[in-house]
Amino acid sequence: MATNINAEALKESPIPDAIAPQPQQSKQTVDPYNVSGEIGEDGVMKAIDYKKLVEEFGTKLIDDELLARFERLTGKRPHHFLRRGIVFSHRDFEIILDRYERGEPFFLYTGRGPSSDSVHVGHTIPFEFTKWLQDAFDVPLVIMMTDDEKYLFSEKRSIREVQGYCNSNAKDIIAIGFDPKKTFIFSDYQFMGGAFYENVTRLSKHITLNQARAIFGFDGSTNIGKIHFGAIQGASSWASSFPHIFGDNEKETVAIPCLIPCAIDQDPYFRMTRDVSARLNYEGTKYAKPSLIHSSFLPALQGPGTKMSASIDESAIFMRDTPNQIKNKINKYAFSGGKVSQEEHRAEGGNTEVDVAYQYLKFFLEDDEELEKIKVSYEKGDLLTGEIKAICIKHLQEYVAAFQERRAKVDDEAVKLFMQTRPLSWVGNPNPTRT
Ligand code: ATP
Repeated sequence: MATNINAEALKESPIPDAIAPQPQQSKQTVDPYNVSGEIGEDGVMKAIDYKKLVEEFGTKLIDDELLARFERLTGKRPHHFLRRGIVFSHRDFEIILDRYERGEPFFLYTGRGPSSDSVHVGHTIPFEFTKWLQDAFDVPLVIMMTDDEKYLFSEKRSIREVQGYCNSNAKDIIAIGFDPKKTFIFSDYQFMGGAFYENVTRLSKHITLNQARAIFGFDGSTNIGKIHFGAIQGASSWASSFPHIFGDNEKETVAIPCLIPCAIDQDPYFRMTRDVSARLNYEGTKYAKPSLIHSSFLPALQGPGTKMSASIDESAIFMRDTPNQIKNKINKYAFSGGKVSQEEHRAEGGNTEVDVAYQYLKFFLEDDEELEKIKVSYEKGDLLTGEIKAICIKHLQEYVAAFQERRAKVDDEAVKLFMQTRPLSWVGNPNPTRT
């Protein structure tokens, strides 16, 4: 359960406050508003302990058997995020595989809270992975832009500002390479109403203030928009919110589940939604619970105890950054797992577990063999901090440059197309085993 969440902590804070140990937050905290590792006795923040999160949240680790089944069914080698444990945990992913095997419908749902005019490299993780899943399963995808959330949860942003970010972030998302025939992007401010709003109220009616407090840590001073927001994020996991995609036969659509690829901080919203889904039925047909597949966080430049965040400029490499900005940020801020002196480093080697340059390579360098060579060499002390940073800079510059090339081609017309309320077309499993 999410703990230690305090409305005050939501205020944008400069990097030293966000990274520095908070006096009463010595425990690991991971929820939609805070991500920070445990503070050790030495006062240093530790890396996020993902195994502990799986135990606390009651999710399941993704194991080799599940990956083998995925490969058998889709004919696709698991993505390197899956092979390397970056996407590491799930809720009911087996149910999605069962449905794929039988050729039964399901959909993908993910989202973005437009908090700044550009996404950062960490945000591309769930989107890259979602695109890969969409290619593997050939199913519809809905992408929610929580512009309302980014207004409600900020002391500073205006509604017009978040709407502007929504438009530019939608372009960033389209530049990942989604197929408009299968993808619907929507802004909460624009899409609210109709079947979606019916589901928002259906969900909010089944959540008490006490439950919202326990799940999200709200207190008496929390604005009521924040308290209600969970129902909006949750309602998009029901297919009946999208009659233009799934039709308006509610008896059928309530039974269509979704798979949500997201970082694990979003899990509390869907734990709540799963709980409500289990209590609802439409004329005897049960509501499907959303399934989830969780990724770990691309760390902030300052270290693996927290996540890269768009609200904290110095923590992030943005997808609009120039090659020089990327180079300077990595050289200046990227936390090093290397030793203080070159002699010591050569003798004892570096720590890849905490080294931010190595951690980024784990996300962005696809070649398993090359990554392993870098790891061995850095841990032996052959490869120096400056050298591993240079490798990281090169790969990130390439990744961002390729993105910027695609992004330059995304215009307002493309945004209009993706955000238009319209039917989608997809095939799903071409060779289902009907039982
Ligand atoms: P902000 O933009 O204010 O920093 P945020 O980082 O939570 O907020 P969202 O837009 O709310 O960003 O999240 C969109 C998706 O990206 C969610 O699935 C979220 O968990 C994921 N995400 C955000 N930051 C990272 C990160 N550093 N690494 C991996 N996934 C991330």
